[in-house]
Amino acid sequence: MSKNQSAPEILISLKPYLVRYRKKLILGLLFVFLTNLFNVTGPILVAGAVDSLKLNPTSGALLGYGLVILFVAAGRGIFLYLVRQTIIVVSREAEFDIRNDLYQHLQTLSASFYKSHNTGDLLAKNTNDINAVRSFLGPGIMYSANTLVSFFFIIPVMLWINWKLTLLVLVPLPVMSYLVFRMGKLIHQVYSDIQGHYSVLTTRVQENLSGIRIVKSFVRESAEIRRFTELNGIYQDKNLKLAWYQSFFYASMTLLIGLSVVLVVWAGGALVISGALTIGQMTQFVMYIGMLIWPMVALGWVMNIIQQAAASQKRLNQLTDETPEISDSSATDHQLTGISGKLEFKSVSYTYPDGRKALENINFSVDPGEILAITGHTGSGKSTLAGLIVRLFDPTSGVILLDGRDLKSYPLKVLRSKTGYVPQESFLFSDTIGNNIAFGVESAGDQDVLEASETALIRENIEGFPNRFETVVGERGITLSGGQKQRTSIARALMKNPDILILDDSLSAVDTQTEDAILTRLREKLAGKTVILISHRISAIKSADQIVVLSHGQVAEIGKHSELVDHGGLYSALYVRQLLEEELKAIS
Ligand code: ADP
Ligand code: MG
Repeated sequence: MSKNQSAPEILISLKPYLVRYRKKLILGLLFVFLTNLFNVTGPILVAGAVDSLKLNPTSGALLGYGLVILFVAAGRGIFLYLVRQTIIVVSREAEFDIRNDLYQHLQTLSASFYKSHNTGDLLAKNTNDINAVRSFLGPGIMYSANTLVSFFFIIPVMLWINWKLTLLVLVPLPVMSYLVFRMGKLIHQVYSDIQGHYSVLTTRVQENLSGIRIVKSFVRESAEIRRFTELNGIYQDKNLKLAWYQSFFYASMTLLIGLSVVLVVWAGGALVISGALTIGQMTQFVMYIGMLIWPMVALGWVMNIIQQAAASQKRLNQLTDETPEISDSSATDHQLTGISGKLEFKSVSYTYPDGRKALENINFSVDPGEILAITGHTGSGKSTLAGLIVRLFDPTSGVILLDGRDLKSYPLKVLRSKTGYVPQESFLFSDTIGNNIAFGVESAGDQDVLEASETALIRENIEGFPNRFETVVGERGITLSGGQKQRTSIARALMKNPDILILDDSLSAVDTQTEDAILTRLREKLAGKTVILISHRISAIKSADQIVVLSHGQVAEIGKHSELVDHGGLYSALYVRQLLEEELKAIS
């Protein structure tokens, strides 16, 4: 996407949405046309009525005029309603589609995209941008069409009655459009500024209240109050500035409108005296001026809407142009619908986009039915290795084979639905605990949820909660302990009945006894499946079929527990230290 696209060019990307709702849109434009047809006839009738007073005043004729005027006004009202029911509705429908499309796109983007983008920011921006685009699609289109059509109807009639007077009284109107355009821009800027500052203010308050214990223990209350007062003062100043702009704007608008009317009365009055204009026609002029004011105001306003929508659409385009780093490609073999779980790493290296080398020349192989443990110090590359297996990212060099085929040849959906991955940081949605566990499967039976939570040894805890499996967790519900969260995450992964289960330090927050019990159950449940067990606790991994010891991104040692202990390297050092720690804990 080039940087120098003009506003209309950027808005072209909205074409698909307009095309989708073209019928309703065209109908809307037709209604705009009809509204204005009624609009222009009203003053003609009024002029006729006024002039009839002078020629042959009969109350019957007046009543006739009155009825027709009433009919015209009603027609205008009905079509105005229909204009909104079509064009504004289209903009809401398009907004719905745009938001869905964007969300769908966001779901495809890779984990690395979200590492480099702040999600809260992303959401706030999207909401604002989509609103701006919707304003363009709805009010933007509706008012531009209306301005155009009303000029098309009203100006010729005015010119036909008296072209000199028309030119004279129209002079203030473009000035008004320009004023709306400039002031609208200013007001918009001040307004965004206020919103930006308001979020600074609320973030400050929120952090302060969440961290109230820190604030109190460091006796910072009065300092914090001072800072808040300062920020609050800035907020007030900005709002006052906005109020000033708005008052100036409304005052000058009123002045310009008044000026137009004065012009008609002054110049038109002279024409009436000289007999070049009837009183009815002058009345008609005053009414037309009144009808042209709003379209002129709308013109200036729409120009702003267009500029804002273009800026917003550009940002949205940048987002939709973002391609997912990891996706199915020509290398994908869609015949592959299942896996058995034999994993091989062949000279696998991985370097993060920021240049940090996390894994180097990793080689190992694990068969279905085996437990492969991975251990090593923090930062040795364990989590990176786990991420490679579920393709959160792909190896920088080397290849990972699954059942003898490149991991990249499996459709992502197949790979991920057959793999149960419990990341190091357990994440639960603000939903019921039952829904959290059933998250990975379309139609989960209650029995499956019970079984999975039984295996992960969390069932008893859940049944002790006030609403059992219906208990809401997270911000709006109860807070789970670290260990409970981990076990819930494990239950969630088990629900998929995975062929490969990856536990990334997923039992670090439970005590060793519970850990033992869970692992024993997992071993039974997952007989014949592949288990990758990452842990820095030797007690958890010593019975694994193979243990890979990572150090600075490389395989330092590989083998069974007894072999590694005999080997007397890094693993045995870790083991001895943990044994000592346990003994110390036992006697203290
Ligand atoms: P472990 O799980 O063994 O603690 P990790 O796989 O998380 O280790 O990290 C391995 C190395 O990669 C560390 O040096 C870490 O700082 C680095 N690393 C981890 N995640 C990222 C990332 N998203 N971007 C850059 N470097 C990372
Ligand atoms: Mg880790």
